[in-house]
Amino acid sequence: MGLTDQLQTLYRVDSQVRGLRTRVENSERYLKAQVRQLAELTTEHQEAELRLRQSEASLGNLETERDTIQARVDKLRDELNSCTTSKQYSAVQDEMKSLKEKVDEQDTIALEAMEEIEVLRSSVGSIAEKRNERQTLQAKAKEDLDQRTHDVSDRLEELEREREVAAAMLPDKALEVFNYTANMNDGETMAEVLEVNRKHREYVCGECNMELPFNTVVLLTNNTDHLVQCVGCQRILFIAEELKTALAK
Ligand SMILES: [Zn+2]
Repeated sequence: MGLTDQLQTLYRVDSQVRGLRTRVENSERYLKAQVRQLAELTTEHQEAELRLRQSEASLGNLETERDTIQARVDKLRDELNSCTTSKQYSAVQDEMKSLKEKVDEQDTIALEAMEEIEVLRSSVGSIAEKRNERQTLQAKAKEDLDQRTHDVSDRLEELEREREVAAAMLPDKALEVFNYTANMNDGETMAEVLEVNRKHREYVCGECNMELPFNTVVLLTNNTDHLVQCVGCQRILFIAEELKTALAK
């Protein structure tokens, strides 16, 4: 087996390994996004609940205060009967009047606070709903990841062993170039040489479309042990058997 064939064998296995790993990584990424969004919603829910509790507490204080004033008004009403002079009577009446105004004021504020509490309560409810939906999605994502990891684990192990064997067949330098190129191109390590025009000796890289010097084509046609990279995308080039045979004629 020539160098290009060995590279292609490694490429095939390497692509499959990467493909399976990518599937698992995509699931991991999706789960991470769910976890992050759930955490955000949990915080949002806690904050909204805190605001609601605070508003409820201040409404409670307001109502206590109002009831105290009202009690004082009721007490003054009884006192009116025991007033002996008209001066006393009108003094009590004046105090009652000003306290009643205060009670009215408190009632208005309490009404506004109650409306605000209603808004907060419905906001807490809708955030809780979103949080619960996200919780379901997160649980499903976790389940999918576990399932996917389990599904590919045997095949992945097998392919990784095959990859090791294929890699061991290659000269160190070629393997180094392969690994470097693979990482640079997300696993799309090799590219086929495509013929544009034989008469004009026009050939391009099948991946990035860069025109290749004819010398590259000659090297690949004559010498299978020569590793040639595309000048544009650095991918390792190969020529299909059919074209190679046609050019060798
Ligand atoms: Zn290229």
